[in-house]
Order: sequence, then C-alpha cells, then structure tokens
Amino acid sequence: MTDPTIEVVKPSTMREALRILARPSPRALPLGGGTHLALHPAAAKVLVDLSGLALAGIRVKGGRCEAGAMTTLAQIASSSRLPAALRTAVRRETNRNLRQQATLGGALAVREPGPLLACLLALGAEVALEPEKVGEGLDRWLRRKVTGRRSVQLITGVSWDSKPSLACADVARSPMDRPIVFAAAAAMVEGGRLSSVRVVLTGAGQPLVPQMKAARILEGASAVDIGDRMMAAAGMLAVDWVDDIRGTAEYRAAVAPVLVRRALAQLLSAGA
Ligand SMILES: Cc1cc2nc3c(=O)[nH]c(=O)nc-3n(C[C@H](O)[C@H](O)[C@H](O)COP(=O)(O)OP(=O)(O)OC[C@H]3O[C@@H](n4cnc5c(N)ncnc54)[C@H](O)[C@@H]3O)c2cc1C
Repeated sequence: MTDPTIEVVKPSTMREALRILARPSPRALPLGGGTHLALHPAAAKVLVDLSGLALAGIRVKGGRCEAGAMTTLAQIASSSRLPAALRTAVRRETNRNLRQQATLGGALAVREPGPLLACLLALGAEVALEPEKVGEGLDRWLRRKVTGRRSVQLITGVSWDSKPSLACADVARSPMDRPIVFAAAAAMVEGGRLSSVRVVLTGAGQPLVPQMKAARILEGASAVDIGDRMMAAAGMLAVDWVDDIRGTAEYRAAVAPVLVRRALAQLLSAGA
C-alpha cells in the first residue's frame, strides 16, 4: 500500500523553496491557495507553501503592472490599481469563497482557460519564473506542454505594460454565470484610432485563443469604420468552439464577432 501522507513545508526564503522543489525525491510541488490541489491531489509527497515568500501584492512601477504569484483572485478583483475590466473578469472566473483562496500563480500553473487568462493574454503579460529568473510571454507559457516529472518552475508573478487599455464583453446564461463566450481586447487609443490591438476569445470549457489575424485587420480602426473593419475581421476569428450545455459551437461562432466589436467600441469610447 502506498503512503498517502503529504508533508507541507513553509520556507521563509526563495532559495530554500527552490532547493526543496529541485530535489528529485521526495517529489515536491508549490502550494498556492490549495483549491485545485485539494480536488486534484498531485503525485507529490511534499507541498511547498509559498505564503512565507512575500509573493503577494500588486504594484505599478516604471510603466508596468506587476502582480505577485500569491496574490489571490479576490485581491485582484478589489485592486483599484488594476484595469476595471480585469477586476470584473476575475469575478466571472469563480465564486467569492474560492476567490479568497485561489492565487494568481495557481491559476497560471493550472492553465484553465477563462476570463482571467484571456485578459492577461490580451494585455501581453509576461510570467516571471524561478529558478531561471526569466520572464516568459504568457502565450508561450500557455502553449508549453506540462510534462510528467520534469523539474518544477516556480511562478513568482506576472507583469504587463500598463499603457494599453483593456475591455471585455461576454454572453452568459445569467449576469454572474461563467461566460458562454468571452472576448478580451487591449489596445492603445491615439487620435481616436486603435493601435497595438490584441484580441483573445474564450469561454467556460472552451479553448483560449489569441486572434492575431483579426487584430491586424483591426489595427488603426476608429469609431467611424469599426463596423466595416469588424466585418472584415469576423472571418479571421478562429476558435475550435465546443458544443456544451451552455450553447452550441455554431452559436459561439456567431456571437464572437459581436462581442469583439463591443469590446473594441468600449476602448474607442473610453479613449475619445
Ligand atoms: C470547484 C472549483 C472550480 C474552479 N473553477 C475555476 C475556474 O473556472 N477558473 C479559475 O480560474 N479558477 C477556478 N477555480 C480555482 C482554481 O482552482 C484555480 O485554478 C486556482 O487559481 C488555483 O489556485 P490555487 O492557488 O488554489 O492553486 P493550488 O491548488 O495551490 O495549486 C494548483 C497547481 O498550481 C501549482 N502552483 C501553485 N502556485 C504555483 C506557483 N507560484 N508556481 C508554480 N506552480 C504553482 C501547484 O503546484 C498545483 O499544481 C476553481 C476551484 C474549484 C475548487
């Protein structure tokens, strides 16, 4: 019979945490809020509680927003330093109780598509990783396969350029339900025109897909020509939508361009 006990250790320095995580045996994994680990127990004998490493907090410095890995979803939802659209998106991710506990680092590690990751992708966020002390684009991080027993990378936080504005639009069965389709758009608005446009589509139980081709067509759009641009960009929106209890793939494909247009219209009217 295998030993079911798991040891939880709480290092007070990053060096110590990395040393434990790097040990080949017994296998150790980082512990954030534990909401995912509680439901999906990992094949680890040791959990490294990150709460003693001062990884929680949000700051805006040198034109970048930074959020530490141990920042809870509730802290993101209530921080006036973060874009309003991001705060709203986090509230749509999961319920109030789980938001108090679940951490940003956990959400990034689990990679579950949803409004939070869609917003961070649209903002062009970068994930800070130890022990390499490197930043990796969130798009790359999300594409990377998580393979079995490869050594653990510790997420210390996420950061993004604070200049682009962010807007979101979605459809859901009820106002606070998880979205059937969720569109996140980020851009700069200069002289009434959009630049550096990024668009991301997702939904509950759906893939999370950046829309690079559509974003290129939308570059330079203004309130006057946004309708025509969106008609041209609609055919470029590419997501392998899935039929489920919330809606059909066909419905999602039809509603996605409407939501992208709404999000872009919000950016244009806020920047006017
Ligand atoms: C029923 C239920 C439904 C949920 N639905 C959603 C949802 O739809 N969308 C959503 O966003 N969240 C949802 N959550 C919350 C969810 O568990 C998230 O994935 C959450 O953000 C995980 O954070 P955590 O801190 O609790 O992670 P933990 O449970 O502590 O860890 C999860 C995984 O991430 C790893 N990890 C944690 N922190 C780090 C780090 N800093 N660096 C590297 N690896 C790390 C752990 O080793 C583990 O493998 C749900 C939770 C529950 C219980």
